[in-house]
Amino acid sequence: MPELPEIQALAERLHDVAAGGRLTGFDLLQFSSLKTVTPRPADVVGRSVERVSRRGKYLVFDLSGGDRLLVHLSQGGRLDVEAPPKSTKPRGAVARIRLEEGPSLLVKEFGRERKAGVWALAPGDDGPLAKLGPEADSDAFAGWLRDADDPRRVHTVLRDQRTVAGLGRGYTDDVMHLAKLSPTATVARLDADARERLIEAIGSVLADATEVERGREGGLPPKLGDHFRVHNRYGEPCPECATDLRRVSYESYEITYCPECQTGGKVLADRRMSRLIR
Ligand SMILES: [Zn+2]
Repeated sequence: MPELPEIQALAERLHDVAAGGRLTGFDLLQFSSLKTVTPRPADVVGRSVERVSRRGKYLVFDLSGGDRLLVHLSQGGRLDVEAPPKSTKPRGAVARIRLEEGPSLLVKEFGRERKAGVWALAPGDDGPLAKLGPEADSDAFAGWLRDADDPRRVHTVLRDQRTVAGLGRGYTDDVMHLAKLSPTATVARLDADARERLIEAIGSVLADATEVERGREGGLPPKLGDHFRVHNRYGEPCPECATDLRRVSYESYEITYCPECQTGGKVLADRRMSRLIR
């Protein structure tokens, strides 16, 4: 699933190819993917793209006149930069943004559960952006983290976009590992030192990954995330201490961690494992 680094670097690439261009089409290739009623797609055609940026995991297209288009790739959403522009409707196609000169941008998806979506927002309407917490690598979130007595798990809080925007399962695993925090650690019980380690780890993991992502060209391909430190790497050696990485699974997700670096040598009981033992 694309997270802050993938979307940030993608927004920068899209800005380079789309900013200054006039919108000649906003084609819905899957009607349920448009989450707004007004303005209608036809209403924004003819506007020029002033800027492409990112907020949380949303791509934000600022249009002349103050309207905005948002794209959220969710789990399996991806984006093709089509140069030269195409008019085909490939499998999984969601929407296509056509520009007068330059490439077309095709939003598509491979996900089953959570779908990629697009929004057309009138001036002053923040749509889903209104519900987002501060950016993960912002001073605002660092400030929140220093004082918070949130009883939830750190891992849960970091993935909750209303509390903090931009992180998903992948980089959260990496942040927890770098900060040497247990998958079961809760925010309220972190000491001051752990809070500072966490703030530092968030900044470092996101900055490193964004730098790697800036090496990409074009859109965002199906296969992502080959540069995680620990996420999805269970069974491989920990990059810090070479202990075998373990995983612990919850209802709908699993966490990869190092028992040596994060849980004081303790291997956490895993639902999948206890089923096998029983
Ligand atoms: Zn380790």
